[in-house]
Amino acid sequence: MGLATGIRKRGFRNWHERELLSSHGWLLLTLLCAVAAFFALESMIGNPAWSNRATNALAIFVSGAVGVVALRRFLHQLVRAQTAASQAVCTQCGTYGRLAVVTEDRAKSWVRVRCRNCAHEWAMDDS
Ligand SMILES: [Zn+2]
Repeated sequence: MGLATGIRKRGFRNWHERELLSSHGWLLLTLLCAVAAFFALESMIGNPAWSNRATNALAIFVSGAVGVVALRRFLHQLVRAQTAASQAVCTQCGTYGRLAVVTEDRAKSWVRVRCRNCAHEWAMDDS
């Protein structure tokens, strides 16, 4: 979910929390893929039959590919959430995460927000 949509629907703090939870779901998938790849590797080493080795090599490849994609998604989502969190502090009053969306530009990846405490406005990078 995009930053502006998330702030509008749930508020910044809930959006940020969900982004972190979701990103850690990708991390969990990465770890499961690593475990699956190691099991397949161990099975491949202990079994001399050619067909079993080919099956295990395929399992290692698929686990590795899914694991790499999951790791990339984890890192992208984590960095995105933390980048937004670092910009969510009002420079006028110091309030964290109490934001309202004023406008957004999806093409240039920024969101203009307003502090709900003091009405100060600033642009947040949403890339
Ligand atoms: Zn403020």
